[in-house]
Amino acid sequence: MRILIVEDESTLVTYLKKSLEAEGYTVDAALDGDTGLELALSGSYDAITLDIMLPGMNGYSVCREIRKAGISTPVLMLTAKDGEYDEADALDIGADDFLRKPFSLVVLVARIRALVRRGGAARGSELRVGDLVLDPAKRSVSRAGTSIELTPREFALLEYLMHNVGQALSKAQILDHVWSPGFMGDENVAEVYVRYLRKKIDDPFGNPLIKTVRGVGYRIEED
Ligand code: CA
Repeated sequence: MRILIVEDESTLVTYLKKSLEAEGYTVDAALDGDTGLELALSGSYDAITLDIMLPGMNGYSVCREIRKAGISTPVLMLTAKDGEYDEADALDIGADDFLRKPFSLVVLVARIRALVRRGGAARGSELRVGDLVLDPAKRSVSRAGTSIELTPREFALLEYLMHNVGQALSKAQILDHVWSPGFMGDENVAEVYVRYLRKKIDDPFGNPLIKTVRGVGYRIEED
């Protein structure tokens, strides 16, 4: 397992590198955004931890460029508490998870392990429900052979539904998985995103796959 750390605080880099190597990971480090991007584009990592405020290109731009290049390596963003961006932005530009500084090393290692697992599973196989196909590695979606453009958040929501095909998922579960564990915002955001998704994957095809489960939430399945 190979991890890339993109972080400009050299004491933190040394500490992370030592700790992750002790866990059996191979670790490369980049101290600025441009070097981080160059290494990330090699596509040879199982996970990337990415700081936001970096010399050169910032973490947000690095993450966006990685995704633009079609690289699906899981990204964990390290966000500062008083940063100018918020965590929702991190997920919207294609990060898979975020951790707020200062963080405990135990939590960081646990999150990286979870990401590597998820990434490994994701690269495995396409998800299919009827004529709807989602490819986690290519981050592509198509229905009846027509390719469909989704935002990173819509993609994450659809992926979660398709991973649990036939199973009713509550809004709280959706928010926990697709937004963040212990999401404290408005539950309606799940509804809003389901509506966005339906507009793209269901409405044009006439045979809706996303079902509303009254009093519970949503389920995806073929009739
Ligand atoms: Ca920094």
